[in-house]
Amino acid sequence: MSDPHVPALSPATVVVAAGRPERAQGAPVNPPIVLSSTYVSQGVQQPGELLYTRMDTETWHPFEEALAALEGGEHPGVAFGSGMAAIAAVFSLVPAGGKVVLPRHAYQVTLGFADDLAARAGVEVVRVDVADTDQVVAALDGASLLLVESPTNPMLEVADLPALLAAARERGVLSAVDNTFATPLGQQPLAHGADVVVHSVTKYLAGHSDVVLGAAVARTAELTATLRSYRTLHGSIPGPFEVWLALRGLRTLALRVERAQANAAELARRLADHPDVVEVRHPSLPTDPGHERASRLMTGYGSILGVRPRGGAPGADAVVGAVRLWVPATSLGGVESSLERRRRFATESLTVPEDLLRLSVGIEDVEDLWRDLDRALDRALRAPAG
Ligand SMILES: *Cc1c(COP(=O)(O)O)cnc(C)c1O
Repeated sequence: MSDPHVPALSPATVVVAAGRPERAQGAPVNPPIVLSSTYVSQGVQQPGELLYTRMDTETWHPFEEALAALEGGEHPGVAFGSGMAAIAAVFSLVPAGGKVVLPRHAYQVTLGFADDLAARAGVEVVRVDVADTDQVVAALDGASLLLVESPTNPMLEVADLPALLAAARERGVLSAVDNTFATPLGQQPLAHGADVVVHSVTKYLAGHSDVVLGAAVARTAELTATLRSYRTLHGSIPGPFEVWLALRGLRTLALRVERAQANAAELARRLADHPDVVEVRHPSLPTDPGHERASRLMTGYGSILGVRPRGGAPGADAVVGAVRLWVPATSLGGVESSLERRRRFATESLTVPEDLLRLSVGIEDVEDLWRDLDRALDRALRAPAG
């Protein structure tokens, strides 16, 4: 994949240049979408020959190659029908009766999946504070899998990924990083020693809140083959159009991430000084517990904010009800700014404050975003009762 005579391209170029069709006179600039469930074939299947779309189809390949290039992987990514399908494939690597180490704050369905494994397959699930390196390392004894998020959802704790991944490797523990929040532009977990990186492509990579998709990139050819085989056996495949849309979205990832991160850092700074705000969590703030680590390990600080307005959960709900430009919705990573109070879900971890709003900062003009939030805080928290 890498030619020593060609200098490595910057990620901002890779998102534009990777996964293009071969250049030939009259060839299209973008890969075509092939809508075919089966391929002409007879006799014994030759290596690389397409047979049936649940097994493989050419419309997946450009995206799978582009994501691997971005994550610094040597083997193509494996696209799945959703982020959870990719995460389920990773959990399938845990034997019955095995042990899994997970963040105490993480994507809710990931935690739910692990609980289900515990109930059905006798898997021991240990939830840790990923910011506490000693605690994570201590939990790794006898583990089969370490699955990390950094920054975590929705608390934005930052893990010392190189330290955790090295400790997992030394102990023969398989390691996976959910890189959805940071994106490969923010950090490349494979370079820090991860065995596999997973994404909810639904979020930043696709970036327009119009597609649900997942992907994994594995360190080795063996692990890549295992994940592909899982996808074929479980049928957890993406549709060709979804993958094509994700590649289209990926083309602007660098621009979107740059703008969204700048907006997020500016809003974090202003909200931290806002009289109606109790706490702001974002690694860009010098006072944030993850600031030093994120400055050292990440490029940028991401564009998710944790904000606790005055007035507890009712105050937070009132803010969500008062915004006009920000979209009250779950999910994140779209071009549009959105927000929600996480504890509105009964399944959210009880260590997440009841009044925590998770803000997904988009690419709009930052002054418009600020005015809407400021006005919503004012209206929600100063409105006369009744
Ligand atoms: C959304 C999300 C997922 C799940 O992805 P889907 O595409 O919704 O299945 C997993 N991890 C994180 C961090 C997410 O934000």
